Amino acid sequence: MRFEHRSQFSSQDASGNAAFVAYFSMEIAVTPEMPTYSGGLGVLAGDTLRAAADMGLRLGAVTLAHRKGYFQQHLDANGVQSEETQPWNPEKTLHGEEPIITITIEGRPVAIRAWRYDLQGVTGHTIPVYFLDTDMEQNDPADRGLTDFLYGGDTNYRLRQEAVLGIGGAHMLYALGYEPAVCHMNEGHAALLTVALLERRMGIAGLDAATESDHEAVRQSCVFTTHTPVPAGHDRFSTEQAEHILGHERLAVLERFGCLHDGLLNMTYVALRFSRFVNGVAMQHGKVSREMFPEYTIDAITNGVHAATWTSPAVLELFDKHLPRWRQDNVTLRYAIDIPENEIVEAHAASKRVLMEAVRQRTGVELNAEIFTIGFARRAATYKRADLLFTDAERLARIAREKGGLQILYSGKAHPADEPGKAKIRHVIELAHALSNETLKIVYLENYEWALGALLTGGVDLWLNTPKRPYEASGTSGMKAALNGVPSLSVLDGWWIEGWIEGVTGWAIYDHDLDTEEAASLYDHLEKIILPIYHEQPEQWQRIMRSTIALNGSFFNTQRMLEQYIIDAYYPEQAVKQASEAPEAVLAGDRR
Ligand SMILES: *Cc1c(COP(=O)(O)O)cnc(C)c1O
Repeated sequence: MRFEHRSQFSSQDASGNAAFVAYFSMEIAVTPEMPTYSGGLGVLAGDTLRAAADMGLRLGAVTLAHRKGYFQQHLDANGVQSEETQPWNPEKTLHGEEPIITITIEGRPVAIRAWRYDLQGVTGHTIPVYFLDTDMEQNDPADRGLTDFLYGGDTNYRLRQEAVLGIGGAHMLYALGYEPAVCHMNEGHAALLTVALLERRMGIAGLDAATESDHEAVRQSCVFTTHTPVPAGHDRFSTEQAEHILGHERLAVLERFGCLHDGLLNMTYVALRFSRFVNGVAMQHGKVSREMFPEYTIDAITNGVHAATWTSPAVLELFDKHLPRWRQDNVTLRYAIDIPENEIVEAHAASKRVLMEAVRQRTGVELNAEIFTIGFARRAATYKRADLLFTDAERLARIAREKGGLQILYSGKAHPADEPGKAKIRHVIELAHALSNETLKIVYLENYEWALGALLTGGVDLWLNTPKRPYEASGTSGMKAALNGVPSLSVLDGWWIEGWIEGVTGWAIYDHDLDTEEAASLYDHLEKIILPIYHEQPEQWQRIMRSTIALNGSFFNTQRMLEQYIIDAYYPEQAVKQASEAPEAVLAGDRR
């Protein structure tokens, strides 16, 4: 039944057209060349769309053009980060759409156009991605740069951008001829789309005339995924600011429908108030979100990664050989248990050599493909604790000396305004200089992005993750590693609570309130369990690599994730209907 939803679900709206899902995200990693994402949220959005394309869903996405990108990171010898813009020209590679829409922001008309990119799936189905752009002559100079910088500027800039994404994005989809049956907000940045849906519904009667039943009608078409338990991740704006930018009528309607919280316009509350389905991005994050927002029903759908995107070339070849349908049907990765272990080891060794060569080219540092190599790469947010591994530097050095050597590869950008995050990078780089010796090599690779992420998760031997609980909503890089047969050593937070089987898919760093105790658990695992297996029980290590693919690769992918969105969030009525009709169908079949 798994793939029947393509015809069963997507062709069932009232008018007989396939019910269209509109997916809104402030950032989307569409291709490695387009600097339109900053990290996990954008990669997840791109992976979701790639899975939707593979599955033939009727879905389209809206984001901003981000003409200046996020930023290119440079690190000096002391680990001081500097940032450079990443200009790109959507007009060079994307298709310009006809409609130009105009919305009012800060009392001025802002014209918006859209560039389209067609994401193609494994069966040839395409998913259109619309990049909104305000860089047009007729716009006030203050508005022309509104779609330039991802997460740049002040809160005024952010709120105006969110108006373009949400209000502009929804009106643009209608101008393009879509009538979305479902609008999915990937994080609260897009929450203002609900205002546009109300505006369309009210027409000339205006927002002031909206009643509770209008609110409910919009609510029935919206789905919201919240992504972070870190309070700073939830956008809030003063009511003065919101009134100035959005105008009195829009703010008044948001206030009337309960979207203010602590006297502020809170985008998470806008999305919560206007969504019939809300979810966190892992089981644990669902629980944490229910504690943060106890008045709301919050489900959980655990994130995934797009399997064919995050599998290294050597492992891709291996899967193609042994599991021919795996790209269309990721569940078949479960049959990786039948892949000969030595072939997995050889594929991984090839990926590791490619990584070592990339490190040499980028840094001049010669690593040794025979040495156990640990990877740690993610945004340099403080809760991710990039320096936990160095809590007892002497012990780390001793383990490296006594257990066959260690190579540790780091990477990650800090948001330009995140001084504590930048301090973490400096700290790691200082320690890397101070500690590196014959048996312990630590390298911090600058400018973490898609290609580097793929090299690292495919080529290291162990993926390390040390977030402070419960701040890791999901985490997805460990899922990329798993697809490549790379086990994790991680704090039990986010996805790892679900993916962890001790000694089978990796290892857990035991929970403790003290960082020193968690670090001790990390060292104990490395010294007493992980390195001894790697060096002394290679057959056991091979089995771990294989079960990591079979158990975690087959589940933590965006195909499984999207199936859950389809059944639980996008078309739950059809799922219920289908289930209740099933017994009859079986009977009818029996009679024949
Ligand atoms: C996968 C990925 C992330 C997300 O990693 P987390 O483990 O969720 O922090 C961030 N940035 C890039 C470039 C990635 O490829």
